[in-house]
Amino acid sequence: MAKTYELPKLPYAYNALEPYISEQLLKIHHDKHHAGYVKGANAVLEKLEKARKDKKEIDQKAALKELSYHIGGYLLHSLFWPNLAPEGKGGAPSKELQKALEKEFGSFDRFKEEFTKAAASVEGSGWAALTFCRKTNRPIIMQIEKHNVNIYPMFTILMVLDVWEHAYYLDYKNERGKFLDAFWNIVNWEEVNDRFKTTCG
Ligand code: MN
Repeated sequence: MAKTYELPKLPYAYNALEPYISEQLLKIHHDKHHAGYVKGANAVLEKLEKARKDKKEIDQKAALKELSYHIGGYLLHSLFWPNLAPEGKGGAPSKELQKALEKEFGSFDRFKEEFTKAAASVEGSGWAALTFCRKTNRPIIMQIEKHNVNIYPMFTILMVLDVWEHAYYLDYKNERGKFLDAFWNIVNWEEVNDRFKTTCG
C-alpha cells in the first residue's frame, strides 16, 4: 500500500491560542478545513492510482490542478500550526534571523510591516509566507493565492500566515487587519528560528 497524507496533531490545545484565536475557530480550522485538504489530496492520488490500474483515461490536467490545491493546503497548514504558539511561549527571533531580516528589509519593523501588508492584500483566499532563498541567502516574502498560486519553487518556508476567511471570520468577521495584529502575539519564533537555522546550516 502506498503511503498517504495524514492530518498532523495540533502541537497545543484547541484553546491555547486564545484570546487571539478562539477554541471554536481553531477546532473547525484544524479538524474540518485542514482535514479536508488531507482527504482531498488522498482522493486525487487514489483516483490516479485507480485509473492506472484500470488502464482508463482521466482528465489529467484537472486532476493535477486539484492535487496541487489540496497538497498546498495540507502542507501550508502543517507549517502554520507549529509556527504559532500560546502568547508568551514563542520566544523571540534569534540574533541570526534578526540580522538576516534587518539586512534584507532595513529593520525588523519594516519586515513586519511588509509581511502584514502582504497578508492584508491577498486577493480573496491565500497566505503570506516568509521564505528563504538558498541561491541568494535572502529572506523573501511570498504572497500565495489559494494554496498554490505564486509559489517560489524550492524556497524554504520559515513562517506562514493563513488569511483565508475560514482562518479568522468566526472571531474577527470581515476585519482581517485585526486578525493580522493578533497574529504577531502568537508567533512561535523558536520554530521560525529552527527552520532558519536548518536552512542556513
Ligand atoms: Mn486554513
